[in-house]
Amino acid sequence: MDFAFDARTEELREKLLTFMDAHVYPAEQTAHEQRAALASPWDTPAIVEELKAEARRQGLWNLFLPDPEHGAGLTNLQYAPLAEITGRSPQLAPTALNCAAPDTGNMEVLAQFGDEAQQKQWLAPLLAGEIRSAFAMTEPEVASSDATNIETRIARDGDSYVLNGRKWYISGAMNPLCQIFIVMGKTDPDGADPRRQQSMILVPRDTPGVEVRRAMQVYGYEDHYHGGHAEVVFHDVRVPAGNLIGEEGGGFAIAQARLGPGRIHHCMRLIGMAERAIELMCRRAVARTAFGKPLAQQGVVQEWIADARVAVEQLRLLVLKTAWLMDTVGNKGAHTEIQAIKIATPRTVVDILDKAVQLHGAGGVSQDFPLAELWAGARTLQLADGPDEVHQRSLARRELKRYL
Ligand SMILES: Cc1cc2nc3c(=O)[nH]c(=O)nc-3n(C[C@H](O)[C@H](O)[C@H](O)COP(=O)(O)OP(=O)(O)OC[C@H]3O[C@@H](n4cnc5c(N)ncnc54)[C@H](O)[C@@H]3O)c2cc1C
Repeated sequence: MDFAFDARTEELREKLLTFMDAHVYPAEQTAHEQRAALASPWDTPAIVEELKAEARRQGLWNLFLPDPEHGAGLTNLQYAPLAEITGRSPQLAPTALNCAAPDTGNMEVLAQFGDEAQQKQWLAPLLAGEIRSAFAMTEPEVASSDATNIETRIARDGDSYVLNGRKWYISGAMNPLCQIFIVMGKTDPDGADPRRQQSMILVPRDTPGVEVRRAMQVYGYEDHYHGGHAEVVFHDVRVPAGNLIGEEGGGFAIAQARLGPGRIHHCMRLIGMAERAIELMCRRAVARTAFGKPLAQQGVVQEWIADARVAVEQLRLLVLKTAWLMDTVGNKGAHTEIQAIKIATPRTVVDILDKAVQLHGAGGVSQDFPLAELWAGARTLQLADGPDEVHQRSLARRELKRYL
């Protein structure tokens, strides 16, 4: 394994670090102020569109997409350090670079499994950053960490499919720019193989019967920057049969393919969040005095900072190893490592953010520092894309298999 950055990565890193300093960090406050003045909190502040235009002009665009026909053509190992940098400002930077979830996973699905017409209609405007998208799988009525439980019905009727079902925590769907949903549901609910019952289908937001009902909260936050997490109901929603992605019964396999890169992107960004937390901790520790000495001279604070540094270095190596394996042996071959980083990264970064909050006192839980919101976001990644326990179960089973 050689994790030294190659020339292209180094060049893009330099560019991106400059872009963050010159444009993204200064825009954080502006974005908050602009959002407060918007007619709807789900609209996009003007500064976000300005950042997108600038990033695109500088060639910092669609870096996540390994397919050179549609994206930057970077390997996972090349993209990892770039995603980490964007994670330092997760509300703005991934969107500015058109590298934000859930669009990234959706674009990958369309690039990999979409037909020509689907790519023209939906992938092209997503790649151009003109629209946003959502991925609708989870349902309030069933344990959705087990995808075989999904109850939304996608029924064939002549040249159409008709959808009925209720989803929630559909990220991005509150944003009016979110024009297209990739919906997972059952085309063959009675099929013998539970992994062939599901299909994925494209549902334009403006189709009659699509009801974006309400924004679900995340620890009391509405997550405006990520377009919220909506409850969405499909009442007799009729779409052309050509909207099906891939074949009937192929939904489960597509979901698996979608989640590999998505998970590693989240982990890379989480490491960037942890780096930001360490930086904020250090700045605060040297600047604030209690009981006659700077917080930085308290042993417990030094322990937090040291432990955070050790944990981040360990995590980064594991994420880079996973990226390297995905590039060299494929997502299947990197399965154990993808699960390992999905378990280890959010958990560890939540702990680092928690210490950073503690060090900031009341300021840590306030809106004046990004820490509380970052904590809430990182904590949800122990659930989103599958809860920790599901990954632990499957990783342990594979480990145990060798001894059975
Ligand atoms: C902020 C946020 C954004 C999200 N975005 C999206 C989105 O865009 N699209 C989408 O479709 N979904 C999204 N989700 C939903 C997320 O993917 C689900 O919450 C997750 O898959 C778990 O499903 P569930 O909530 O139904 O929990 P359940 O399946 O009911 O599981 C509840 C708990 O049971 C335990 N458990 C489950 N299975 C096992 C097991 N095998 N072994 C041990 N314990 C187990 C775990 O502790 C788990 O947390 C999002 C969630 C959040 C919080």
